[in-house]
Amino acid sequence: MNEYDSNRILDLTKKINYTLTINIKDSDCYVLNTCHIREKATDKVYHEVGRVKKEFRYKKKPIVLIVGCVAQAEGEVLLKKEKYIDAVVGPQSYHQINKIILDIENKNTKINSTEFEVIEKFDQLNLVKNSNSKISSFLTIQEGCDKFCKFCVVPYTRGPEYSRSYPEIISEAKQLVDNGSQEIILLGQNVNAYNFKNKRLSDLLYSLSEIKNLERIRYTTSHPKDFTDDLIEAHGECKKLMPLLHLPVQSGSTKILHNMNRNHTIEEYLEIIDKLKEKKSSIKFSSDFIIAYPGETNDDFEKTVSLMKQVDFINSYSFIFSARPGTPAANLKKIDEKIAKERLTIFQRVADEIKKKYRNKLVNSITNVLFENNARSTDKYFGRDEYFNSVIVNSNENLAGKIRNVKIDSCNQNTLFGKVILESKPNEYAA
Ligand code: SAM
Ligand code: SF4
Repeated sequence: MNEYDSNRILDLTKKINYTLTINIKDSDCYVLNTCHIREKATDKVYHEVGRVKKEFRYKKKPIVLIVGCVAQAEGEVLLKKEKYIDAVVGPQSYHQINKIILDIENKNTKINSTEFEVIEKFDQLNLVKNSNSKISSFLTIQEGCDKFCKFCVVPYTRGPEYSRSYPEIISEAKQLVDNGSQEIILLGQNVNAYNFKNKRLSDLLYSLSEIKNLERIRYTTSHPKDFTDDLIEAHGECKKLMPLLHLPVQSGSTKILHNMNRNHTIEEYLEIIDKLKEKKSSIKFSSDFIIAYPGETNDDFEKTVSLMKQVDFINSYSFIFSARPGTPAANLKKIDEKIAKERLTIFQRVADEIKKKYRNKLVNSITNVLFENNARSTDKYFGRDEYFNSVIVNSNENLAGKIRNVKIDSCNQNTLFGKVILESKPNEYAA
């Protein structure tokens, strides 16, 4: 979402004649968009500002803006502790960025803009064309969260759940496709909580499917609690919806899920997986895991490892629980650091093994790839298959923006390598 927000900030600032610099040394205004989800986020901000200071030691100081969730969480503290920072701007007030920049240019004041003004933000953003022209583009449809998982800062930094207007999303999607995007990844902290005048995520998927030249649709991140039957149905029906679903589970133990305030059981989670497989047998899953949440016993941890094996997640993001100031879980007794690290190592070893087995099976298979760009050298092209696996091929033809069948020859932990085997292929995704 920060990537989407950063692009929109760029679109906004173009209105006051700012453009993107490739080299940091050339900037008049430096915008650092931040994430606060795990520890050390604030330290990273001070570190990064230190780097800018050094860069501009003998030059005119640029305007320095800290935007995003660290700005929201730390606000005034950042301004007081680091005088080099000119303004802090929360994720729901960045539509004000031009006024903030001009105020700093004119009056040299320090600004703290951290109100939750999400409706006003999107009203302003809708007036500015989305100029992103990447083959695969993000599109925010929902923001914020009302779920208050005990470990998570999002409800405090992004604010309450908000769904963007349906027609505005369709219009922005069409803009992106007109700019050359062929894949759209719908974004939301709880993307499947989307609800605009009773239009749900499933409705959006059907409507977006009708946009000519939009080839692929994905969405992230969904919450099991909001996984309604209409959305499950859409996975069977929407041919453009890719067959990989990121569905965070956090833990394999219902007891820990309850302690986290996740509001669902492992049985309910597995039921969603089974229903999805019934509708679309080719579907695969990825997930997020928090290891060593306070109170996690060895037995709870074993359940997480078993779940990993049972669902066969082809990708996973796992982190040791990080105590976030201001969240209820921050006051709970932490698991011993050594045990936490051991559990993470064991878990990641299992996850890597599953991923390796899955990838090895892909060697000699044929996969359908949407190519995005050149990968380092001119005759190498980078793209992604339906399961979001990175694929690199050698080709004399410019493949950017093309969908091709690729025979996979080899792989490593992160990338598949292969050859294009057909001239072109109509975009068919079997249900
Ligand atoms: N809304 C999504 C959900 O409920 O699954 C997740 C969004 S959250 C921004 C992204 C991921 O960060 C979570 O799935 C979780 O695994 C991880 N995360 C959030 N807070 C964390 C914490 N305090 N410690 C470790 N990981 C955390
Ligand atoms: Fe955070 Fe997701 Fe829980 Fe909301 S549902 S509090 S974003 S982990």
